[in-house]
Amino acid sequence: MVQSELNIMTAGHVDHGKTTLTHALTGKWTDTHSEEVKRGITIKLGYADTAVYKCPKCPEPEAFTNSKKCGKCGGQAELQRMISFVDAPGHETLMATVIAASSIVDGALFVIAASEKCPQAQTAEHLAVLETVGIRNVVVAQNKVDLVTKERALESLKEIRALLKGTLYENAPVIPVAANSRINVDALLQAIQENIPTPKRNLDAAPRLYVARSFDVNKPGAAVEKILGGVVGGSLLQGKLRAGEELELLPGMLRHKKGQDVYEPVKTKIASLNAGAESVPEAGPGGLIGIATLLDPSLTKADSLVGCVAGRPGTLPPVWKDFSVEVFPIARQVQKFPETFIQNEPLVLGAGTATTVGFVASAKKKKNFILSLQLKKPICADKATPLAVMRRSQNRWHLYGTAKIVS
Ligand code: GDP
Ligand code: ZN
Repeated sequence: MVQSELNIMTAGHVDHGKTTLTHALTGKWTDTHSEEVKRGITIKLGYADTAVYKCPKCPEPEAFTNSKKCGKCGGQAELQRMISFVDAPGHETLMATVIAASSIVDGALFVIAASEKCPQAQTAEHLAVLETVGIRNVVVAQNKVDLVTKERALESLKEIRALLKGTLYENAPVIPVAANSRINVDALLQAIQENIPTPKRNLDAAPRLYVARSFDVNKPGAAVEKILGGVVGGSLLQGKLRAGEELELLPGMLRHKKGQDVYEPVKTKIASLNAGAESVPEAGPGGLIGIATLLDPSLTKADSLVGCVAGRPGTLPPVWKDFSVEVFPIARQVQKFPETFIQNEPLVLGAGTATTVGFVASAKKKKNFILSLQLKKPICADKATPLAVMRRSQNRWHLYGTAKIVS
């Protein structure tokens, strides 16, 4: 296996079949963490890689497959590219995680079940997220067509087209599929190949990785001399990482000092790199990159470093504990929000894979609101990094808009 060259996220309402469809496309289940299985929902970003092959002899769409051997003629299919699917959770409280996923992907597979009226609450909200964060290339999977009549399938298609009208995805392909019986998976692969191109990467830029998970890979009771260093995983936006290089992670590690929570930068070395489930000497953008470090594994366990930005020491964006931002509400609000912000109102901010709470210290209205925010947890971000802003409405967090750091 080689490294994936792009990431595609799945989005859509809970239970519409994102995880099942990811399995149909890749042959892998993304939600294998015990806690997720227990709760029956995907709560973290899951990656699943697949190779896309095309048979040179068979007609489209049957020619597209995720196996080396053509399913139709049994001949040798040709490798097109490696794709990593990032399965975003559909659970209603986890909009922040959907936003985190959107920061590391190059396109989206938007899953809508034909068996329910469209749009469901999160269908509309995820669509707003995709548009707001600027994802340009989307393929819609109209799932569960095995459960409905032909009439309902056509009605569902009308509802989907109506939902997409006027959005960036007005002309996105809608592919009818049945994820658990793998119906039309070939046509879906073809649509992905044709509509979600691999973007041009800047491989010479300073590497910048968004950390999506971090863990301790050692078994309890492992012999001291066999203990491996802490592992962090995530996706590179630009540049390359190489084994043996120095690595810095910001804002870093939470420490308790004199009753205060402080985040301290973490510096370490890349002991080894993994991409596409293989050890590699260097890795670039696309897919999940696992970095084995020289850190004490207790420092990386239980996703402690998720949300950090990693790269060469001295090249990372600044770390902010407070800042002023200009806020841009989304055009198509799914929720109703108050027109003004009140002192100390908490907002949830997403920047890359980081999520933090910002309390409104002051609000000035110019063309847009300029908010001065105090952050509960600092974030590492450039002024150019788009921030996602969530506000509370009806006891839940909803996407409100985006923000840009002013100072
Ligand atoms: P997610 O929450 O969007 O990830 O949805 P899941 O992939 O967990 O699917 C939710 C339920 O729908 C599971 O019980 C699946 O087996 C079922 N399901 C998913 N896709 C299909 C489909 O195409 N047809 C049918 N009949 N059931 C499906
Ligand atoms: Zn063939």
